[in-house]
Amino acid sequence: MNGTMMNTPLVLPSLLERAGTFYGKVEVVSRLPDRSLHRYRYADFYRRAKQLAEALQKAGLRRGDRVATLMWNHYAHLEAYFGIPAAGGVLHTVNLRLHPDDIAFIMNHAEDRFLIIDDVLVPLYEQVKGRVNLERVFVVSLTDAPVSPEYEKYEDLLATATGDFHYPQLEENEAAGMCYTSGTTGRPKGVLYSHRAIVLHSLASAMADTLAISRRDTATPVVPMFHANAWGVPFAAVMVGAKLAFPGPHLDPVSLLDLFAEERVTFTAGVPTIWLGIVQTLEKEPERWKLQPMRMVVGGSAAPEGLIRAFDRFGLRIVHAWGMTETTPLATVSHIKPTLEGLSEDEQYALRAKQGVPVPLIEARIVGDAGEAPWDGQTMGELQVRGPWVASSYYRMPENDSFTPDGWFRTGDVATIDPEGYMKITDRTKDLIKSGGEWISSVDLENALMGHPAVAEAAVFAVPHPKWQERPLAAVVPKAGIQVTEEELRAYLEPKFAKWWLPDAIVFLEEIPRTSAGKFMKAKLREQFKNWNDERDPGSPHS
Ligand code: AMP
Repeated sequence: MNGTMMNTPLVLPSLLERAGTFYGKVEVVSRLPDRSLHRYRYADFYRRAKQLAEALQKAGLRRGDRVATLMWNHYAHLEAYFGIPAAGGVLHTVNLRLHPDDIAFIMNHAEDRFLIIDDVLVPLYEQVKGRVNLERVFVVSLTDAPVSPEYEKYEDLLATATGDFHYPQLEENEAAGMCYTSGTTGRPKGVLYSHRAIVLHSLASAMADTLAISRRDTATPVVPMFHANAWGVPFAAVMVGAKLAFPGPHLDPVSLLDLFAEERVTFTAGVPTIWLGIVQTLEKEPERWKLQPMRMVVGGSAAPEGLIRAFDRFGLRIVHAWGMTETTPLATVSHIKPTLEGLSEDEQYALRAKQGVPVPLIEARIVGDAGEAPWDGQTMGELQVRGPWVASSYYRMPENDSFTPDGWFRTGDVATIDPEGYMKITDRTKDLIKSGGEWISSVDLENALMGHPAVAEAAVFAVPHPKWQERPLAAVVPKAGIQVTEEELRAYLEPKFAKWWLPDAIVFLEEIPRTSAGKFMKAKLREQFKNWNDERDPGSPHS
């Protein structure tokens, strides 16, 4: 027997309408390239997002057509987030940090028809324009610089709208957004987000036990809006009517701290690198900024325990979360369950440094060589997930072994799950270090090293070894102006790990190579140090 409830579709215009109807006075603040602040209210955002939808339709946008964006985080990108899907189009956020070759590949693969671009990013587009087939390019003027007559002005596009706009009858499984994964190997793969997935993801993100985004918040997505929907923060914030404070292109610690203080930010999200920079700045000048108690979501890479502790000292709470472009992206969040509040302080920190428990409607399992692995907090296996905002295939790539025959997505992450259900990422499958047939978690070693007061960053990676197949090597970037030796770091690690886990050597670098999304590019380190053991007489770590 069916229920008798209505089957109204879960589509983005309902979030936009709600924001326009109930939260018109709420502010949207954006830092512009010249550092000044652009301010308007949800009423303006609502009107302009609908103007954009109407204007795009007038420009010939058909249902399902892709509209690319090359933009930083600001009000106009927010308009695109809602206006493009409201017109029946697909918002294709393009990662502006990619190499022009990859941008050209992605735009051609997605068959983007239109592009909306920040004026300050036009020089980037000029490097790809000869290789792509865009029909029209609309430039958002964030500065006073004149727009080349070769392109159209975004404001002129909006001005073609008359206000007589009716949403198309959208179905919830239609695509609303698209993002290519920024993998470190192979060609980028396209993920298509449905309206339904984004709406459900927004509801899940707003839940008290996940990210708790509410209309009481002022939210700053530091994570770029071209990276997995800025983790869904703009969608959820609009759904609940939260004030938004966008950082624009200014992602350095001082600019961000200024924004947090001036706009009284209470919720923010970004990768660990950003927060490492911020905590170091705060430690130098603890009195300079008057901050609100903030929840700071950290994902994209593991949040080291030392970072969580450091922010607690400033009354700022790191919320560790895990997800992927393919999971819209929020999939797990680490909070202490009330039944675990009796744990010691150290145990609680260790739990918060795990990636956490799946959010409602997401299921997780770990799979090893012998099938599903036990949830004992020890056994590692490949993490697999499923749920209504997890991709079931890649765009125009029907065959892919990332999807199991029984309907799970293979994340490529290696994890343990403990009896309480807390998942902990121990590696990427391709970053695993297998020494003498046993897995060593590079992430555990990195986090331990980053807990040392002299270490700014550490990456641990595998180098070939004649006897053990692979051994770990650590690359460390010391904090500015601080001296530290390999012996000191080794002595620091020794009590924490089995002897055979300890890196064979610790090398000091000025910086760790990174991907466009700010993640360590361990493939580059592996390549750079692949002959390490040819030049030495490797010892016997397993004895
Ligand atoms: P992306 O699709 O670019 O967002 O990258 C997703 C990948 O980032 C995941 O598969 C993980 O390897 C990594 N990742 C995301 N969040 C975390 C986290 N909290 N801890 C460790 N790795 C993470």
